[in-house]
Amino acid sequence: MKTDYLIVGTGAVGMAFADTLLDESDAHITMVDRHATPGGHWNDAYSFVALHQPSAYYGVNSTELGSHRKDESGPNSGMYELAGGPEINTYFDKVMQHRFIPSGRVSYFPTSNYAGDGRIVSLLSGAQTEVTVRRKTVDATWFSPSVPSTHTPQFAIADGVRVIAPNGLPQLWLQHEGRTVPQKFCILGAGKTAMDAAVWLLRNGAEPQSIQWVVPRDSWLVNRLQTQPGLEFFNHSIGGESNKLAAFAEAKSVEEVFLKLESLGQMLRIDPSHNPTMFHYATISTGEVDLLRTIQRVIRKGRVQAIAPDAMVLDQGTVAMEPGTLYVDCTASAISHRKSEPVFGEGRIHIQLLRAPLVTLSAAMTAYVEVHGGDDEHKNQLCQPVPFPKNLLGYVSATQASLMNQFLWSKDNALRQWLRHTRLDGFGKMVAELSKDDTERQAILAQLRTRTTAAMSNMPKLLSAASQV
Ligand SMILES: Cc1cc2nc3c(=O)[nH]c(=O)nc-3n(C[C@H](O)[C@H](O)[C@H](O)COP(=O)(O)OP(=O)(O)OC[C@H]3O[C@@H](n4cnc5c(N)ncnc54)[C@H](O)[C@@H]3O)c2cc1C
Repeated sequence: MKTDYLIVGTGAVGMAFADTLLDESDAHITMVDRHATPGGHWNDAYSFVALHQPSAYYGVNSTELGSHRKDESGPNSGMYELAGGPEINTYFDKVMQHRFIPSGRVSYFPTSNYAGDGRIVSLLSGAQTEVTVRRKTVDATWFSPSVPSTHTPQFAIADGVRVIAPNGLPQLWLQHEGRTVPQKFCILGAGKTAMDAAVWLLRNGAEPQSIQWVVPRDSWLVNRLQTQPGLEFFNHSIGGESNKLAAFAEAKSVEEVFLKLESLGQMLRIDPSHNPTMFHYATISTGEVDLLRTIQRVIRKGRVQAIAPDAMVLDQGTVAMEPGTLYVDCTASAISHRKSEPVFGEGRIHIQLLRAPLVTLSAAMTAYVEVHGGDDEHKNQLCQPVPFPKNLLGYVSATQASLMNQFLWSKDNALRQWLRHTRLDGFGKMVAELSKDDTERQAILAQLRTRTTAAMSNMPKLLSAASQV
């Protein structure tokens, strides 16, 4: 068969890219994925998973996710809704079944492996389809995370030790058997998945003292209040961006950036007595932080190496454990740190991050630039890959690269217009909708622009100060 674009991966990234390509071109698209339904890793997620960010600006450009309502209860109360895993999966499936396939321009190969050189192999029959690609093969797997249910734990587990992925927590009732003794839990890992598992346990009735938590490293967390799309949150979101840039402009070190933002309530940490060394844009509410702070039995001895029935061996020592403890494995790295490469090349596109941390905006933007951006050299100028942070310093590099892209996009009239209207850029739309007569908010916007220049000039100093330590 022949196609214009062969997209490998129907996760959020492949779907957002295809959606914008459909709107902006007449191209025929072929999509292939090992999963049986679109949505990528969300298919394998624990049932209580939810977006970190509001649904309002996640997914594909053409189709709203959620109904733009605010939560009225729970730790996200008062803020815009966060789609859960099942809702996200249904959303992507509907986009495929109700929009892509009926367009007559998308051929979809689920449950199939892309084996390179235009070869698609069915995982069920082994049948092979050869595809001739007229324009480009699109790698939509660059950002693919590792998730608990499909990764292999990197520690030894003795016979009889109970280790489950968070996916198993809602199934615990199956093992109830009239049990009246409280369960004992140990959460392994300190990323957002571990926080989700701990919050789920606490909100479902586990006592804080029944939970132990292995925290190899502490993390700075974005206060979700700063990520809200509605105008009523303007001071938190756009004002928050402005404060962030002021911190980047004034700080002498990257640690100081985070401390300044913490003092403004924009960055959070669970234990204020420990200095975080990790930042992955994990986003959380203060309500969740309050819940997590009730867990006092925190083990800080590095990563787990082995678990025996009565002890756990970690990088920095052994801890006695109560037999029968249920270990919840949250050690999969949700972040892939693949080396970046030019987004556009001869016969191929590698979708990468263009504005941190907005993955689906980056994918849709890549499709827009592919259609309207001229030759590959110009397209690559417009779409410089943004490195995803591995540590605190990565926040400086990611912000710097995102601002550079943003600056170039603002010089391109068509791109600027597209950005003003895309639903995937929550803040861009908010700014576009701001009345010229709203002098108070216009002043915050003007301050943001001034601070951007100051931040950009201080960022190289922050990076070089860190490299000299
Ligand atoms: C718990 C959690 C919460 C998150 N919350 C947010 C959030 O709020 N906002 C946000 O922007 N991001 C969030 N993320 C980041 C998230 O990773 C991205 O939003 C996005 O889902 C990544 O999608 P993807 O398409 O890059 O990867 P995936 O979802 O992994 O999709 C890649 C697909 O490629 C397929 N594939 C790979 N190789 C082949 C091959 N050779 N042949 C066929 N198919 C192949 C895989 O089967 C997979 O389906 C979250 C991540 C996690 C884990």
